[in-house]
Amino acid sequence: MTHHKAVWAGGHDHITITIADMKLIFFWLSPLIILGFALTLPTQTPDSLHLVLPGDTWTALSYQYGLPVESLQAANYHPNRHRQPAIGSTAVIPGAGAAQMGTLTRPYGSLLATAVRHNRPLWQIARQNGVASPYLPLLYRPIFIPGGTAPPRDLPAGMAWLEVSQAVAHPGQALGLRGMVQEEEAITTVLAGNEMDSFINGRYFLALTGTGAFWGSGQPELAIRINDQPLWTQPWQFNDPNLWEYQQLTLTGAAADIDQAAIEVERERLLALWEQNTPLPQWSGPFQIPLTTYLEISSPFGARRAYNGGPYRTYHEGVDYSAYGGTPVHASAAGTVVIAEQLYVRGGAVIIDHGLGIYTGFYHMSEVLVAPGDNVQAGQLIGAVGTTGLSTGNHLHWDLLVDGIWVDAQAWQEQGMACWILAGWGSSCPAVDDG
Ligand SMILES: [Zn+2]
Repeated sequence: MTHHKAVWAGGHDHITITIADMKLIFFWLSPLIILGFALTLPTQTPDSLHLVLPGDTWTALSYQYGLPVESLQAANYHPNRHRQPAIGSTAVIPGAGAAQMGTLTRPYGSLLATAVRHNRPLWQIARQNGVASPYLPLLYRPIFIPGGTAPPRDLPAGMAWLEVSQAVAHPGQALGLRGMVQEEEAITTVLAGNEMDSFINGRYFLALTGTGAFWGSGQPELAIRINDQPLWTQPWQFNDPNLWEYQQLTLTGAAADIDQAAIEVERERLLALWEQNTPLPQWSGPFQIPLTTYLEISSPFGARRAYNGGPYRTYHEGVDYSAYGGTPVHASAAGTVVIAEQLYVRGGAVIIDHGLGIYTGFYHMSEVLVAPGDNVQAGQLIGAVGTTGLSTGNHLHWDLLVDGIWVDAQAWQEQGMACWILAGWGSSCPAVDDG
């Protein structure tokens, strides 16, 4: 602040300082002013922020930062004290104590089995956790076993680690969980009351789903049940930046009397197909955009649509690429063709099953060059851009479904979801596609 004064009270009373000069002076002084403020802060440890990941319960954070659960809860007040911090939210850590690395477990039986599994003396673990009777059932009370270099996380019993594909979830995106279980278990995973597609490959655990583009912001509950053990739950932070495009469409003449019943029949038939899970991934690299050349993205995924002045009740379930008629269309990834025919709404259509409940679809094509049952490779020619079905011009509508739900294929690619999932399955994902 002394520098600041020196300029203004330096005896140059007759100098006229314009607004522009003041802006310039402030521009150069601002780093010093900020530094000045920083130096006047109290020297005690300031609050820090923690991005909450799966298993960061109050108990786990208390070990990670060496602070009592009560002070963490007081700094992150919520009327329900039993509610755990949401994955993807930011927890305030008031100061910091002595952090401890180690493992948190919630044994159902006595401490003896835990001591044996972790190869630790029973009396030592009992004393460290204040357990008076190490031979009585612990009923999921958290037990801390110090050691190692990993911060303790409060995960479902028997799960060595657990990750989410994105800490903060956005509506319209594919969401994944991957982890490692002790042995091949029966696992049920539920998000906001809807069961996710769950897969076990040896000790690898995967769960996948999509959220519709109408999901707002909030903290829905993620729940995992392994065998018949009690439910593990943690909320998950959803943010909707609301960057959606809004489209008002006017239907007149022939377009206005579209056969609604035919639309419904086609939709029901395809939804039943998209619900099927082939429990093996068929792809082996990143997904590709189906066109090597196109004019523009004429409608992104999730664009809100209102018809004839009505409310925005539907959204665009895929990505539209406008392109010249006849432009070659390629498979995004390897898989099995399950639909290759003319449909009422979607016109010349190809739908490919990639395994693990993941499907891609290519619509309005003038030509369909594959047949149901064909195994296609990534990049294989499957058709040509057209304007068949309910379409008003040459374009390719490309969609992607996970767990029977349309997701944003562009976000899927940007996040590298195809390889993220393969890694969670225990497979590698070559950077160069197998084409
Ligand atoms: Zn479209």
